[in-house]
Amino acid sequence: MNDNALGVAAGGPPGAPPGGVVEGRVMSRWWQGPGRVVRAVVDDLVTTIYPSDCRVCGGPLLRAGFSPVCDACAAGVVPQSMTLCVRCGEALDMEGVRFAGQFPVEGLVCSPCRMVPPEFERAVAYAVYRDELREMVHLLKYERMRTVAKPLGKLLARAIEMLEAEAGRELLVVAVPLFPAKERERGYNQAVLMSDAALVELKKSRREWKLIAAHGVIRRVKDTKSQFGLTPKGRRRNLQGAFAVGDRAALAGREVLLVDDIYTTGATARACARVLRAAGASKVWVATASRAQPEMVAAWDAGSETAAWDAG
Ligand SMILES: [Zn+2]
Ligand SMILES: [Zn+2]
Repeated sequence: MNDNALGVAAGGPPGAPPGGVVEGRVMSRWWQGPGRVVRAVVDDLVTTIYPSDCRVCGGPLLRAGFSPVCDACAAGVVPQSMTLCVRCGEALDMEGVRFAGQFPVEGLVCSPCRMVPPEFERAVAYAVYRDELREMVHLLKYERMRTVAKPLGKLLARAIEMLEAEAGRELLVVAVPLFPAKERERGYNQAVLMSDAALVELKKSRREWKLIAAHGVIRRVKDTKSQFGLTPKGRRRNLQGAFAVGDRAALAGREVLLVDDIYTTGATARACARVLRAAGASKVWVATASRAQPEMVAAWDAGSETAAWDAG
């Protein structure tokens, strides 16, 4: 009777061992002492040194490391297997494939690319933006887990390798820039972190390929609103005048590899490519870790509940 009363009073389940409750109280009093800031710092350290659970699947992280995502989740991201537009990487619907089937396979081009060819040569993405990959991108962008840039950078490296046969032997690698105020608020540009991780990876797998980080050459000079819910025309207008090149001399006659976490409608990639080409870049290539395919973008525009979250 006594034991039970103690358990209920402490908010624990009936019959719970009283020792745990008392220990918990002592711990929480101790924690309240140093203040919230110190506690947050200690929590961060403890999580880094003794990782808890995978932030994607909740399973245990088997080895201590700096990524909060387990190996199984990272390995669960599989490359796209649909028939894709050779220019922008958009999944071609069956009608498009049938129509394009009259032409050699190299000629599979989606109708937007046929109507208004992009100013980049080709855009490639490793996997569809969903499941584990979507979670990982969110952890990096909205939960400030910068260590997720490493597994995402590996996926970006795999995407960049797809350009190997066509792109030049020396490329300037440029991350899609954030507006300075937004970058300050987030603390970093996720595309820069992913790019750095990808280049480390490619230095091992593609020794001959000279990939030079040059993120500063393009800047975002307009605080654009979210592209979410905008029509294709609205997206283009929103990005008009959004990007500018600071150092034209650095770009003259060079091939550029533009990298980002996700390719959604291509409006951003097209806008950056236009500015880079106008500043003298000879060719622009685009690589992203993930790709939102058209039916996904349509669902966001129709206002699905996760739309605002994804468009963040
Ligand atoms: Zn996991
Ligand atoms: Zn296309």
